[in-house]
Amino acid sequence: MKKIEHIGIAVKNIDESNKIYSKLLNQNPYKIEEVLSEYVKTSFFKIGDSKIELLEATSSESAIAKFIEKKGEGIHHIAFDVEDIHSEISRLKKEGFVVLNEIPKKGADNKWVCFVHPKSANGVLIELCQEIK
Ligand code: ZN
Repeated sequence: MKKIEHIGIAVKNIDESNKIYSKLLNQNPYKIEEVLSEYVKTSFFKIGDSKIELLEATSSESAIAKFIEKKGEGIHHIAFDVEDIHSEISRLKKEGFVVLNEIPKKGADNKWVCFVHPKSANGVLIELCQEIK
């Protein structure tokens, strides 16, 4: 794992939250992107080497919708940048972590992503991400 790539925050209304985080971070999001397969709309802000990702559900099927229903808005996941997502997945599986998708999927912001179940990591959903080159 190289660094914290981003922190994902579940929000109800991404347009409203973009305004709040634009003020907070004193910059506009550099990217707004819908991920159809995940039923989410995302926006990204850069802070040094890390990012903040805001996520709004576009369907009640979305994991973000379910998260907000259960816990309300707030931090949804922490994403780590990895060199080789396949070797990290097999390493974590050997260590006993519950990997939610063993085959990396295409996430937002040009990344291969894989999620580790929060029950494996003290209640925190972990995302591994590797830039698609
Ligand atoms: Zn993320």
